[in-house]
Amino acid sequence: MRFTIDEQLADGRGRTGTLELAHGVVRTPAYMPCASRAAVRACPPGEIAAAGVQIVVANAYHLHLRPGEDVVGDCGGLHRFMRWDRPILTDSGGFQVFSLADRNCITEEGVTFRSPVDGHEILLTPELSVQIQMTLGGDIAMPLDECCPCPAERDYVERSIERTLRWAERSLAAHRHDAQRLFGIVQGGVYPQLRARSARATAELGFPGFGIGGLSVGERRDEMLVALRAAMAALPADRPVHLMGVGTPLDIVDCAAEGVDLFDCVLPTRNARHGGVMTWEGVLRIAAAEHERDTRTLSEECDCPACAQGFSRAYLRHLFRIKEPLGWQLLSLHNVRFYTQLLERVRAAIAADALGELRAQLSAWSERDRA
Ligand SMILES: [Zn+2]
Repeated sequence: MRFTIDEQLADGRGRTGTLELAHGVVRTPAYMPCASRAAVRACPPGEIAAAGVQIVVANAYHLHLRPGEDVVGDCGGLHRFMRWDRPILTDSGGFQVFSLADRNCITEEGVTFRSPVDGHEILLTPELSVQIQMTLGGDIAMPLDECCPCPAERDYVERSIERTLRWAERSLAAHRHDAQRLFGIVQGGVYPQLRARSARATAELGFPGFGIGGLSVGERRDEMLVALRAAMAALPADRPVHLMGVGTPLDIVDCAAEGVDLFDCVLPTRNARHGGVMTWEGVLRIAAAEHERDTRTLSEECDCPACAQGFSRAYLRHLFRIKEPLGWQLLSLHNVRFYTQLLERVRAAIAADALGELRAQLSAWSERDRA
C-alpha cells in the first residue's frame, strides 16, 4: 500500500490523495458504498464501477454468519466471489455486534452474541475477526474495537479505549497477509482529550492507516466535529484516515475539510430503498403525487444509468409504488452516483481551495438531514 498526498488546502488539513492498494488505485477523498453481504444492494458490480465507485466496504460479521468466510475463501476470495476486481475494505463487524446491545456480552476475550440466523452462540475475538478478514482477502481490514453507546459516561469511554488498544495489539499480532493492510481504530466518544489519547496510542502501534469510529451515532453535530478534530490532530498526517459511517453530503464536505480521506455511508442505498432520491437540490421523494406525470429525469446534472437513459420520474415513481426491483436498482445507482459525483467535486474543490463554494451548492441540504 502506498498513500501520496496530491493537493493540500492552504488553510486546514483537507487534502486530496492517491491510495494504491493491492486491487487498484483510489483517488481520495473517496466514497465507499456498503456491500456488507458482498453486494451493493440491488446493483450489479459493473454498474457500480461505471457509477465511479473505486472501493466498497464488506462486513466480516455478516459474511461470517452467511455464507461463512470459508465458503468465500474456497470460492477464491471475496473479489472473485462477488466479481468485483477493485479494492475492498472489510469492517471487523464490531459495530454490528455492539448495535445488538441487548444480546451481547463483552469480556476482555471478546464479545459473545447469538447468531440472528440460527441462534447459536458466537465469541467474536480480535483474532477471529482478523482471521475472517484474512480469509475474505479484502485490501484493507479493520480490527475489532469496542463501540460505546451514545451517550456514554467519560469513565466508561476511557476504559473502553484502553480495551480497544489491547484488542488492536492482539489484532496486529494475529494479522499475517502480504496484500492486505490492517488499519487502527480511534475511539473516544465525544471527549476530545480521549479522542486525542486514543489517536496517539493507536498511531504508536504503527498502523499504516486509521479508522475513526463511534461518530455520527447520535451525538450533536458540533460534538462530532470537535471529536474529529481532536483525533485528526493527533494522527500522523501522512497516513490515510477513514471516518466510519459518516455521513450526509454536508458531513462529507465538512469532514473532508478536516483531512478525512475515506467515507462509507448507507444513506445512498437506504434512501433508494425508501424512495428518497438524492440531488443537489436536496432529497426528492419519488412517491410524491407531484411526480405522477413528471417526465423529467431525476437530475439534469446526473449521468447515472437512470438519468442517462432518460427514465422519467413518473416511470420511476410507478416502479417504486409497485415495488419493482428495477426501480430499486435505478434509484440506488442514481444515489450512489450522486455520492461519487459529490466526492469528485470535493476533490476538485480541495485542489482549487474552494470547499466553501461547494458547501454553498448544498444549501438545500440541512445539517440535520439524516435520511
Ligand atoms: Zn441519476
